[in-house]
Amino acid sequence: MNTIRKGRAVVLERPESLVLRELCVPSPSAGAVVARVEYGGVCGSDVHMTKGEFNLPHAIVLGHEGVGVIEELGEGVLHDYAGVNVTAGDRIYWCPIAPCHKCWYCTIEKDFSSCTQATWFGPVDKPTWGSYADFVTLPEGAAFFRIPDGTTSEAVIAFGCALPAVLQGVERAGGIKPLSHVVVQGCGPIGLAAVMLAKLSGAATVTAIDASPLRLRLAEQFGATSVLDLASTSLDERLARVRAVSGGRGADLVIEASGHRSAFPEGVGLCARNAAYLLIGLWASQGEQPFDPSLIVQRNLRLIGTQYAQGRHYHDAMKIVSLHHQAFPFEALITHRCGLHEARQALGLVTSGQAGKVVMRP
Ligand SMILES: [Zn+2]
Ligand SMILES: [Zn+2]
Repeated sequence: MNTIRKGRAVVLERPESLVLRELCVPSPSAGAVVARVEYGGVCGSDVHMTKGEFNLPHAIVLGHEGVGVIEELGEGVLHDYAGVNVTAGDRIYWCPIAPCHKCWYCTIEKDFSSCTQATWFGPVDKPTWGSYADFVTLPEGAAFFRIPDGTTSEAVIAFGCALPAVLQGVERAGGIKPLSHVVVQGCGPIGLAAVMLAKLSGAATVTAIDASPLRLRLAEQFGATSVLDLASTSLDERLARVRAVSGGRGADLVIEASGHRSAFPEGVGLCARNAAYLLIGLWASQGEQPFDPSLIVQRNLRLIGTQYAQGRHYHDAMKIVSLHHQAFPFEALITHRCGLHEARQALGLVTSGQAGKVVMRP
């Protein structure tokens, strides 16, 4: 039976033009899934898309982070992408990218987040998985995972795409070594996810840097052993503090999650000899930044960039939240819950730097 549902969706028609529209949501085709959105995560990249910093070929439903409840399974869908049986009514968390499995990166390098033919967003005249909406239709190939009973949907959406992105980044950087000294620049969702992962990995010290007292408090709750307020410390003071907690050497791993280019020369400076510098937040900060590249050579540094995440990182993120939801206050990360008619305010809150996680709650 083909049911046609109707649902509201926040459509980005063109840069700066967000409209709440009613869209038809037909029954899923074979291999696809229709879910009712419980929470759509509001992400910094949504702000950049709305501003028109990325060329979108067509109007889209905004939002790539979501958790929801399965409404209807397409033919042949019996389990999630980790083999767990699913049925209508189950809660799921999904990866918004369906890799093609036919390109160089998918086949030869098995780096699905570099797939050259994956789509993040479909056009709005077809079933789409933009999550600022009542419903999503997850296409075949977009990995989704059943949220374990006892783990709240808010705990899972709290880190949105941030924890998966950090998991992939840390994987690219070769992991976080036990007893290492870690510095995290920026304590938005990506930075807080990095702080938590460093803590869980057995880092000796985790130093978090941000200008927001709210975010620094959250960093402490997620495992930071010391926090440095950008507003009340100088660059030299921060360097001295990081060296003081690391036996004078500096950080073994610096994770950039700030989105500010000025963080880059400071991050290089905070690195110990033989350290790695993982850059995540500078994704949307195109431009030039002066720094002294000789430091990279003289200190044997490794610079690692990373973007997006793959299905398995979404799986692992959900598992980490499920395992540790009593140790960390995931739900407390969510500071604002907005209706679909409040999309513009939600994006403004993200830009303010004063919010924790902002979510859409249709
Ligand atoms: Zn591909
Ligand atoms: Zn995101």
